[in-house]
Amino acid sequence: EAKAKGRNTFHFYSQELNAAANERLFIENELRTGIREGQFRVYYQPQVDCRNNQVVGYEALIRWFHPNEGMIPPTKFIPIAEATGLIVELGAWILQEACEFAARLASQDLKNNISINLSARQFKDANLVSTLDKIIKQTGVEPKRLHLELTESMLMGHVEAAILQLHQLKALGVSISIDDFGTGYSSLSYLKRFPVDILKVDRSFVKDIPQDSNDMEITAAIIAMAQKLKLNVVAEGVETIEQIEFLQNNNCYIVQGFYYSPPVSEDELPALFERLKLKN
Ligand code: C2E
Ligand code: MG
Ligand code: MG
Ligand code: MG
Repeated sequence: EAKAKGRNTFHFYSQELNAAANERLFIENELRTGIREGQFRVYYQPQVDCRNNQVVGYEALIRWFHPNEGMIPPTKFIPIAEATGLIVELGAWILQEACEFAARLASQDLKNNISINLSARQFKDANLVSTLDKIIKQTGVEPKRLHLELTESMLMGHVEAAILQLHQLKALGVSISIDDFGTGYSSLSYLKRFPVDILKVDRSFVKDIPQDSNDMEITAAIIAMAQKLKLNVVAEGVETIEQIEFLQNNNCYIVQGFYYSPPVSEDELPALFERLKLKN
């Protein structure tokens, strides 16, 4: 009985593992084709100053439109792109696209910042700085418009190497954001050693405001700490007016989330500005 059950459990398990491995393999193969055939698009989510509806910036977020599978979310393919190293090529393409977008905005005299997510592998890549430098020069974008988003875990592993890489990136004139702040292993003493400019309060702390008083305390503490360290702060995943009011009462004014808009294609931006009475 027990043996049979054990065997069945194992069988069930290995089928599940197989399914996961197959999906992984499928995505890995499709990623190569997708990159070659241009199935990716960069979408942009506005970062809004909630005091005056001014769009101060955009976060670039990749979207994969697969011809048969439809939209495959980044949480499904970024880890695989990361593990296979394909992220380096894909990441360079995202940087190029986002910088071209930034240059188009600048050509209309708009001064929005563009935040771009870097993956761990991309951040560690020895060619990252020269790749970005080349793209900046070629697109003519003002480097100070670019904000590179990293997570705490990317910094905590090899601290000295990370600090060096950050200094080299900052020497190009770009700013550094810590994404998903508060969810990683954050050592405050380390944080002070990293040349970072912006903290992004993770959505997990924002989403249950105002029901969860712990989350409100944590969010308020992160904002206060950012101010003490003279860092700018952006709240992620803001969906309700109550959340905006709470953030504003705690001196966080730059917000990003579905309350304003999900990430959209560049084409959709004019209609969004119109509908939400956003300003540049
Ligand atoms: P992230 O960088 O923390 O991006 C924020 C995610 O939260 C995005 O999901 C965004 O669509 C979603 N979001 C924004 N506002 C709200 C909200 O109000 N409610 C909810 N429920 N969600 C909201 P997305 O685009 O699916 O991306 C997920 C993650 O995948 C990103 O988290 C980032 O870690 C990664 N990713 C996305 N695009 C890129 C990219 O171009 N390069 C790299 N390396 N990673 C990326
Ligand atoms: Mg991000
Ligand atoms: Mg985030
Ligand atoms: Mg996240």
